[in-house]
Order: sequence, then C-alpha cells, then structure tokens
Amino acid sequence: MFGAIEAGGTKFVCAVGTGPDDLVVGAPIKTTTPRETLAEVLAFFKPYRLRAVGVGSFGPVNLAEGRITRTTPKIEWRGYPLKRTLEESLGAPAVLDTDVNAAAWGEHCFGEAPDPFLYLTVGTGIGGGGVVNGKLLHGKLHPEMGHLLLRRADGDTFPGLCPTHGDCLEGMASGLAIAARRKTGEHDFAVEYLAGGLLALSYAYSPLRIVLGGGVMKTPKLRARVAKRMREMNCGYAPLPKVTAPQLGDLSGVLGALALVSYR
Ligand SMILES: [Zn+2]
Repeated sequence: MFGAIEAGGTKFVCAVGTGPDDLVVGAPIKTTTPRETLAEVLAFFKPYRLRAVGVGSFGPVNLAEGRITRTTPKIEWRGYPLKRTLEESLGAPAVLDTDVNAAAWGEHCFGEAPDPFLYLTVGTGIGGGGVVNGKLLHGKLHPEMGHLLLRRADGDTFPGLCPTHGDCLEGMASGLAIAARRKTGEHDFAVEYLAGGLLALSYAYSPLRIVLGGGVMKTPKLRARVAKRMREMNCGYAPLPKVTAPQLGDLSGVLGALALVSYR
C-alpha cells in the first residue's frame, strides 16, 4: 500500500492505493498552518501501513532538502521540512516533488502522455513540469514555467499581478489576473499570453504533447483557442505539439503523487 498527498496551496488531498483502479481518496483538507493541516493528514493515514508516500507540493520546493522554500507566499510554511516531518510521523520514506511535476508523472505513468511532454496548469497561479528522457525535469530548483517573461500584447496596459515580476505569464494570465481584469472591465488577453507561453515552451523543449489543465482550463473552448493562437504565432516555423486536457482529470495531482512512489 502506497500513500499519496497532493499538497496544494488551498487544500491537501490524501489517498492510498497502487494506481487508478485501486485508489481510496480522502476528503479535501484545508491548507492552514502546517500543524493543523498535517494533523488531519496523519489522521487519514492512521489505519494504513504505508510502504512509501509520494508528495506533490505547492512551491517553490527545495527538493534537495525536502522543504518548502523561504520564498513561498504562504508565510506559515516558509522553510517547512515537509519530507522529514512526514517520514518521521508516518514511519515510511517520502518522495517529494512539485505539484505540477507530480501531475506530469501521473499523466505519463497512468495516462498516455508521451516522452517528452510538458504539463501546464492554469489556476490561481500557473505552473509547469514535464518528463524528458524518462525523467521528471529537475535542476537547480525545478521548472518555473509560469514565470516566463513574454512579449506584451499590443494595447495591453495591465501591470500584472506577480509579486516578483509583475507581468510574467502568471502575472498576466493566471485565474487571479483574469479576475482582476474582469473587475476593471479591461480586455482579457489571457489567450494571447498562454499561447505565447506554450509556444516558448514548445521551442525550448520540443515536446510531443502539452497537457493543459487547471481550473481556468475548464472554460469551454479555451484550450482550443490557446492552441489555435499558438499555431498562428508560430507562422509555420516548427512542428508543434498537440495540446490536450489531463487524461486523469481532477485526479492527476493525487495520482501523480502516488506514481512518485508506486511507479518508478
Ligand atoms: Zn512571475
């Protein structure tokens, strides 16, 4: 039996099992303080003996040290040693990665996502991960695909919402940015920036597929509009990847976390 934790910025989802056909998912747990949230997480796992637990976490994450970085906007979690705490309290080894890398791994292991491919989520924020040569993308930190600095759309005066960069991809096209523009009655350029982001990532990685998920992507036809605009921007220059929805749907995060330990 393996454990899985999708550790999101607003909620944690825990599960036990071995794969999509053998999975028990717990009720969502609100992300508050580490002490409160982890008490509920441990209560969920209490009846089970785990061989290992996979964790897909909000970030940024210091993967080498197994902790949330000190730059996370979630103040209570700054520097929190998530991997070590879980290992000590669950008595099982933990594998920690970003939420988006975990989701990418799930789509690759339990879905049909090819190699290489990228996974991008557009929700409150924007994040991305991917599989290249059979491995998740890791490096100095982990990919920060949501923070690409892209060409500004003609006529766009929105300053952007990223606390670090202002008008990076996340600052201009996240769910929060779209909502802020809507409030002031401004034109929504999200398709333009998302298409630019996907094109930049396609040129950088030459993926066979980009899986585009997250709450914002539940907007009807949005994925198709982004893919179409990406093709226009490409001007026929390079062959481009298919842009698809997550095959595992809303379970890609928690199944991805499970795949970090059950499918290696
Ligand atoms: Zn940014």
